[in-house]
Amino acid sequence: MANLENIKARKTLDQIQPYSPGKPIWEVQEELGLERVIKLASNENPLGPSKKAVAAIEQGVLGLNRYPDADASDLKMAIAKEHGVEKNQVIPTNGADELITLISEAFLEQGDEIVVPDPSFSEYDFGAHIMGAKVVKVPFAQGFAFDVDAMIAAVTDKTKIIYICSPNNPTGTYMKKQDVQKLLDAVGDILVVFDAAYSHYADADDYTDGTEFIRQGYPLLTLKTFSKIYGIAGVRVGFGIAADSIITSILKVKEPFNVNTLAQLAATAAVTDHEHVTQSREANSRGREFLYEAFEELGLPYTKSMANFVLVKLGEEGEALYQDLMKKGVIVRYGKGWGLPEYVRVSVGTEEENEFFVEALRELIQK
Ligand SMILES: *Cc1c(COP(=O)(O)O)cnc(C)c1O
Repeated sequence: MANLENIKARKTLDQIQPYSPGKPIWEVQEELGLERVIKLASNENPLGPSKKAVAAIEQGVLGLNRYPDADASDLKMAIAKEHGVEKNQVIPTNGADELITLISEAFLEQGDEIVVPDPSFSEYDFGAHIMGAKVVKVPFAQGFAFDVDAMIAAVTDKTKIIYICSPNNPTGTYMKKQDVQKLLDAVGDILVVFDAAYSHYADADDYTDGTEFIRQGYPLLTLKTFSKIYGIAGVRVGFGIAADSIITSILKVKEPFNVNTLAQLAATAAVTDHEHVTQSREANSRGREFLYEAFEELGLPYTKSMANFVLVKLGEEGEALYQDLMKKGVIVRYGKGWGLPEYVRVSVGTEEENEFFVEALRELIQK
């Protein structure tokens, strides 16, 4: 009889920490016997999906006996048009998470390094670890501002990818356009992956989603997702935009039918639903302001955000308050996993959800 203990996975998998998603609503409802539970933990669009996307899915259901378009041609075209790039500069993927894995598979050899700001989105580390590459973390400066000089200084001859998440998850801070320019000019021939998952929410004049640098010929890949402002996280679509030579390399490791038919139809409709985007952006700006005011009133330090979430410091009681909020039916994201045990990240919800959250927090703090 064979010994199962001799069936060993690759060594590098020891480095991988399981992803911890926000707890689902049903689980908290069941565990705590609560009627009303709101989830402000995954930065989803609280207004729901684009109605045009929903209609496109309904139309598409009857064609499900067919395989998806392996080239996702209509979706590529729609994305290219929206961003002022060519169709062959676009790659749609099964969520932007898949794109991060594909980029890692295409560009990282064992022993290579990636440079990432810290704290940031955990999937960059995941991608590096599955390839046996090393993660070089660069802490933020005061107020979670990007430290562009430190990022440049972290580059070695082993660096293959520099990640910039802007606006950054979980801090909500962004890298100013002139700093992106400075970094690109300083590092030369290194792939810069610019994660602009939250770009639609950023309203600073000196914000860039990176695409202007692609048009100028820099080795930068902008990554975006349909899971946030477009409100279709459940069907899983993300995409990358870069020079066609970079896209061609990533296409080599992609599975043929990675984006399913309904996802392609929904995303193609959503990308031109400007009304839904505008409404969502405006509702988010109001929600952010509402949260800022509430935090000020409660004396809680927070970081101004260019995204649809706010990082707030609850102090030494952080973990207890996070748990107590859950008991009151509010799921937020606890900061410990990012090395921020005194913080939580709260997604901007509907007006009603924001009020429910603030009321729960007020009761806990002022009790
Ligand atoms: C949500 C998110 C993504 C992508 O999510 P998908 O649902 O996989 O498309 C990418 N980057 C950041 C920083 C995110 O927060």
